[in-house]
Amino acid sequence: MGNIIDGKAYAAALREEVKKGVQEIRSVHGVSPGLAVILVGNDPASEVYVASKGKMCREAGMEAFDFRLPADTTESQLIAKITEMNKDKKVNGILVQLPLPKHIHENAVINAIDPQKDVDGLHTINTGRLATGQEGMIPCTPLGCLILLKHVLGDMSGKHAVIVGRSNLVGKPMAQLLLRENCTVTVCHSHTKNLAEICRQADILVAATGKAELITGEWVKNDAVVIDVGINRIRLSDDTTKLVGDVAFAEARQRVKAITPVPGGVGPMTIACLLANTLKAACLQNKIQSNNLINI
Ligand code: NDP
Repeated sequence: MGNIIDGKAYAAALREEVKKGVQEIRSVHGVSPGLAVILVGNDPASEVYVASKGKMCREAGMEAFDFRLPADTTESQLIAKITEMNKDKKVNGILVQLPLPKHIHENAVINAIDPQKDVDGLHTINTGRLATGQEGMIPCTPLGCLILLKHVLGDMSGKHAVIVGRSNLVGKPMAQLLLRENCTVTVCHSHTKNLAEICRQADILVAATGKAELITGEWVKNDAVVIDVGINRIRLSDDTTKLVGDVAFAEARQRVKAITPVPGGVGPMTIACLLANTLKAACLQNKIQSNNLINI
């Protein structure tokens, strides 16, 4: 039976590091890192994420600025808000909660953010930097996955990493990060043939599809390390639901070296990495060297 990778504990340790960094840059340099989170509309899940990001930010000693805009906000009104945040010296990081209402073009909005304040790492400049091996902002979820993998495996050179999912948010940047670690990377998606067979070849399996328990125990290689990014709510009865990942956890655990649970795996790391990216952004913008930045 494989180990459970305790994302909550790793995330708490990372948040502690960030907190130390925040204290240091405040006391030595007089800089207080600030994160602006912009939510358009009132999607209940997004409201929960935004509230939790604000709370964690304040707990790490950072300033959190929350902006709730109505669902009928136009693209140009949203971009105007971002332009205002780009100029605001108190704001070091800007996060626009996704998904956006359908009438707004996500790419136009993301690319309106100053790349140095793009703590989600989704601006075309930052994705380009990641793809070409240059320093930039790395998307929080794949960064969190990489930190967990490094804790479990250390050196990943030569390992076969299979990523199921190719979104701009998770799958593609995860592939870039694992390439940078000298893994041999296979990226799968909804058109992939023989998905089970490919997954069975994975030393490292990252699942990010949003399909509840798509990956069964039989798809997992013995001794693999499995990172389950998926968050899916399934109905158990009329009034009971449960969160599960993209991997059938109990079955897979019989075979793996280690696996992340859902909840309590990747999710907490995503928020901790958002804080780490905000600290990094504050340091870059103020030309400060800090020992408490993630060195990855
Ligand atoms: P997207 O919907 O943007 O992407 C899903 C990807 O999975 C697509 O590339 C899609 O393929 C692929 N896919 C879907 N079904 C299958 C299938 N049957 N077989 C193979 N591939 C498939 O999702 P995200 O990347 O944004 O998120 C994925 C999951 O991760 C969701 O559950 C989301 O809630 C969760 N998530 C969790 C986070 C956390 O902090 N823990 C953060 C971000 C996301 P194609 O491209 O061909 O359509």
